[in-house]
Amino acid sequence: MTPDEKVNILMVDDQPAKLLSYEVILSDLGENLIKASSAKEALNILLKTDIAVVLMNVSMPELDGFELADMIREHPRFGKTAIIFISGVHLTDTDKINGYRRGAVDYISVPVIPEVLRAKVGVFVDLHRKTRQLERLNAELERRVAARTEELRQSEAHHRERAELLELATEAIIVRDIKGAIRFWNSGAETLYGWTRDEIRGRDLHQTLETVFPVSREAAEYALATAKSWQGNLIVHGKDGRELVVATRKVLNRDGDAVLEIQRDITAQIQAEEALRQAEKLAAMGRVAGIIAHEINNPLEAITNAFYLLRNHHSLDEEARYYAALAEQELTRVSHITRQTLSFYRESRQPITVSLPELIDNVVELQQRPILLNGIDLQKKYTSTAALRGFPGELRQIFLNLIGNAIQAMPAGGKLRLRISDTVDSGTQRRGLAISVTDTGPGIRPEDARRLFQPFFTTKSAKGTGLGLWISKGIVQKYEGRISFRTWRKDDCAFTCFRVFLPTGDTSVGEPVRDSEVAAGVRAIA
Ligand code: ADP
Ligand code: MG
Repeated sequence: MTPDEKVNILMVDDQPAKLLSYEVILSDLGENLIKASSAKEALNILLKTDIAVVLMNVSMPELDGFELADMIREHPRFGKTAIIFISGVHLTDTDKINGYRRGAVDYISVPVIPEVLRAKVGVFVDLHRKTRQLERLNAELERRVAARTEELRQSEAHHRERAELLELATEAIIVRDIKGAIRFWNSGAETLYGWTRDEIRGRDLHQTLETVFPVSREAAEYALATAKSWQGNLIVHGKDGRELVVATRKVLNRDGDAVLEIQRDITAQIQAEEALRQAEKLAAMGRVAGIIAHEINNPLEAITNAFYLLRNHHSLDEEARYYAALAEQELTRVSHITRQTLSFYRESRQPITVSLPELIDNVVELQQRPILLNGIDLQKKYTSTAALRGFPGELRQIFLNLIGNAIQAMPAGGKLRLRISDTVDSGTQRRGLAISVTDTGPGIRPEDARRLFQPFFTTKSAKGTGLGLWISKGIVQKYEGRISFRTWRKDDCAFTCFRVFLPTGDTSVGEPVRDSEVAAGVRAIA
């Protein structure tokens, strides 16, 4: 009820003249005046209309005002309706108390003084209006409280659900403000980075982002600021310093002051994919080599036998015998290479004894074409015959990458030096093999040196994957070895040397590892 909404005043009297006189007096109040000439009519009106005040004569011949008051009060809806009695006779206090008991709120005696009647009715009209307003406000308040409570309950449940989901996610989910301070760090992030929630608090996440591929971190941040989101691979460092490739999605919030980052570790995936790609390439070449070796093996044997018979034939003179022996010797070498080639491609599931000189010679054989095409002068110096226990496929990948890089660094020719020697690791004092690959290419720029072993780092634009050195480092670490490089200048020539240390285990140092074949493989060519 708005303050200017009119309220209803019910006037009950069996004498129309009296009703008329009340009407005249009360018309100044500006409210709705409703007349009833019987109790029945009065009750009917009360049931249909919201009445603020009932004004009634106590002593009506056909209707006792007290009885009507009783009826009104009995009804639960009218328990608080104001009733003003007009009494024609002098009322004793007992009469008055009687009336009050029935719920009368006031009495007016005859002769009615208009101002008094108007004032009294006015008070109750006001009261009614205020009560109604209060009731309405209360109802509104209750409704709002209920709505808000429900809203809170829902948002709390929503929040809890969301937090649970974020917690359950296997991805790292991080919320940070744009200055870098961490606001949210789920268990996925703890697993990925190794820092717990408490440890990460106050840390600047930006510092953990080293490189961004394929764009720089600045470019990613710029894209984030303008496009509101960014997606790509980041190279990050975990707590233990490990280098990780993480597929990342960054989204800026609506206010532009916080960033949601969802990250997934794809290091192993990329490593496996690249290793598989390299291995598949080798396997394909292996199949071709296998077919060729198989096809030439039988005729080769027949020819060797024929030469053997020829060499010992009585009709041959000394000179012919010499040539036959020479041919037989070369044929033996060819069949050796054939067998070696076959064994090179045969992959084993168990670690086996791998001869490094043999393995590296085979890698060189694979790279024969670019070595010749680029006009590269190859120098080999193997002073160790040591072997390793391991998987030839993996070890081959290391040297394919290193020798491949050296060749690619010398498109216009140069020197490629390969060395294998026994050594003791200066750090761990463990014995092992040092294998170095040195080229006379342009060298490595100081600003690139730091990033050489990072995944995706390449200076070969579309031709490079930037994964070769990273994969090689991974494999070397698996063998508990080390890989390093250095570049230097001498006599106006740049040198770049990649050195791999692979532990052999104490017993194998200096031990002759394989039969005469391998010993023959130690073809120290300076
Ligand atoms: P990719 O060969 O696909 O570029 P790598 O991981 O094998 O990837 O090498 C990464 C980068 O290291 C190369 O792009 C190159 O800049 C540098 N690099 C590697 N080996 C040599 C080398 N022998 N001489 C000069 N730079 C090299
Ligand atoms: Mg490479």
